[in-house]
Amino acid sequence: MLPLLPFVYEGLPSRVIFGAGSLQKLPEEISKLGAARALVLCTPEQRAVSAEVVVMLGARSAGVFDGAVMHVPAAVAAAARERAKRVRADCCVAIGGGSTTGLAKAIAVTEKLPILAIPTTYAGSEMTPIWGITENGVKKTGRNATVLPRTVIYDPVLTASLPVPLSVTSGFNAIAHCVEALYSRDANPITSLMAEEGIRALAAGLPEVAKDPGNIDARSQVLYGAWLGGVSLGAVGMALHHKLCHTLGGTFNLPHAETHTVVLPHVVAYNAAAAPEAMRRLARALGAQSAAEGLYDLAMSLGAPASLQLLGLRREQLDQAADLAVENPYYNPRPVTREGIRSLLQDAFEGRRPGQE
Ligand code: NAD
Repeated sequence: MLPLLPFVYEGLPSRVIFGAGSLQKLPEEISKLGAARALVLCTPEQRAVSAEVVVMLGARSAGVFDGAVMHVPAAVAAAARERAKRVRADCCVAIGGGSTTGLAKAIAVTEKLPILAIPTTYAGSEMTPIWGITENGVKKTGRNATVLPRTVIYDPVLTASLPVPLSVTSGFNAIAHCVEALYSRDANPITSLMAEEGIRALAAGLPEVAKDPGNIDARSQVLYGAWLGGVSLGAVGMALHHKLCHTLGGTFNLPHAETHTVVLPHVVAYNAAAAPEAMRRLARALGAQSAAEGLYDLAMSLGAPASLQLLGLRREQLDQAADLAVENPYYNPRPVTREGIRSLLQDAFEGRRPGQE
């Protein structure tokens, strides 16, 4: 039996409504928030679904702001805040992925409007108090309890339209939250339970989603796993994997979810010997012999991109990426060395299966 080490657990307060068709609960959930003028946020691609939301809200809608884009550019945040003030919104409804939830958080951080989030990807931002705004190519992030969505409606039906490649990579983004929670410096028995269960649900559901994207039972499993990933991300600190992906996304403009998918097996291989209990749980949740190889094989079986090269990184950028990733010290179960990270990046660049020379 492993010794039970002392721990701190801090739950974040949010109300979660989960299930196929739960979008119908939106009007009553807006009333429960005590709100009467909801500004609906979405990306330009998700105008159609936000129009349905406006109809459902009726007189409680204060209109739509459909300018959400990846990484919350400061100019977009400013325009959205201006709109919220002009229409005298008293809450934001964010329907979409992490980019849309991120825009709602950027409004909340200054305007203090409560957020009702309706996630349509697996990014998990709706369960965290972490906000980010990008200005002059630099993403500034912060933690603030006021940006944590007060209510989250998880309706798997809304995820049925998410294309399979994005479903797979977004699902791996959620797996990554769970993996790093298992070996987090703040790991505790509750988040580890949620993280392991999240990986199990995602690994079971994703192959079914890839076969039949309209399978709502499979979509429910994956969305449930994504919720647990989001809770894990919000509850405990992350490590090398999130740092590397943040660097690659921010500096080289690599796509968010795809980068998570390519990098994760290599970070897990890097950390394996330093976090044996996390690896045991991860392998168990994947139903695999080895955690790193199990993740790689799952990604490949689902048709995910294998290498950073495929995502557009150039060989001559690897040195700079390694330098940036070791610039500021941060927690990781295995010490982060320039040489170790450079070799990890080479493997990810080439898309090598972990454990193979
Ligand atoms: P995204 O929100 O940018 O969405 C990707 C694309 O998919 C968009 O074009 C969107 O319109 C479309 N889309 C979303 N749902 C769809 C659906 N159901 N059907 C069809 N199309 C759909 O991507 P994402 O991966 O969800 O979010 C990435 C962003 O979220 C990054 O900026 C990342 O930094 C941020 N993020 C933040 C946190 C946090 O805690 N603050 C956590 C995770 C991710």
